[in-house]
Amino acid sequence: MVTTVAFIGLGRMGGPMAAHLVAAGHRVLGFDLVPEARAAAAAHGVETADSARAAAAGADVVLTMLPEGRHVLALYQDEGLLAAARPGTLFIDCSTIDVADARAAHEAATAAGHHALDAPVSGGVVGAEAATLTFMAGGGDPEFTEAEPLLAIMGKRVVHCGGPGAGQAAKICNNMILGISMIAVSEAFVLGESLGLSHQALYEVASTASGQCWALTTNCPVPGPVPASPANRDYRPGFAAPLMAKDLGLAADALRAGGIDAGLGLRAAEMYAAFAEGAGAAQDFSGIVHVLRDTATTAPKGRTTT
Ligand code: NAD
Repeated sequence: MVTTVAFIGLGRMGGPMAAHLVAAGHRVLGFDLVPEARAAAAAHGVETADSARAAAAGADVVLTMLPEGRHVLALYQDEGLLAAARPGTLFIDCSTIDVADARAAHEAATAAGHHALDAPVSGGVVGAEAATLTFMAGGGDPEFTEAEPLLAIMGKRVVHCGGPGAGQAAKICNNMILGISMIAVSEAFVLGESLGLSHQALYEVASTASGQCWALTTNCPVPGPVPASPANRDYRPGFAAPLMAKDLGLAADALRAGGIDAGLGLRAAEMYAAFAEGAGAAQDFSGIVHVLRDTATTAPKGRTTT
């Protein structure tokens, strides 16, 4: 069955995702504020609309892939997307946003007579281009059942995590593990350097021992042991540090809101915020190893008695 999908936000993620829906035979009405993004999507068969409202008006499903929660809520409400859609339209938001914003988006969509699902992704631009994303979905069973075949076109795994906001919750929890573990792996390499241990030796032990994790074996923060990791190409992303800083910021907000004193998650959010504002602005998130190494080389060696 051909579904007409309004796809709003045709950026680095949304552009290739929309193209996969077209390639699978669906009709995609696309809109982005940036003319270049619209033109790139049109080259892949997306029918570009003059506005988000115009795209939504003719669609069975409205999919958004926008920078932040405020963009999603403004578009849904102030910019009239919910009002423009036919009653009973399914709104799927794939952006990474705050859990509270995701729940507010669900409520607004439901109050306007529509159905809603939050479905953020993991896998980055490479996953969007290769249709190998993981979708983490939050919402009711009927909404998930309707959305799953479409999401499966753009990804390799679609997980129903629970009710409204559960997809966003899974996303920030997962990325909090990732941010903390990248810092842990980087600290271990810097400690190993100071103890005269080679990167390869530490990798060969930790990758097959209890230190094993994705940050080590796939996105290794030092060049050499994992040839495909961004460290081997001057830390070009990959998963850009500002995106990790954004996700950890969402996790830190949720930790504070929940009164959870998660020392490592909050510290990781601080470290990535500082890194993303400075040297890491255009780097892969594994570049944080440089910050740790710089700190190590400027720290006083051993205890002083003065
Ligand atoms: P992007 O900046 O490349 O794309 C966002 C697009 O939204 C832009 O083209 C922008 O013009 C458009 N936009 C903003 N407001 C709009 C509006 N009102 N109407 C129409 N278009 C509008 O960002 P991206 O990398 O594609 O990321 C999108 C989302 O996916 C973010 O929430 C991000 O956190 C998440 N994400 C990104 C990655 C990644 O590796 N890039 C990985 C996982 C999740």
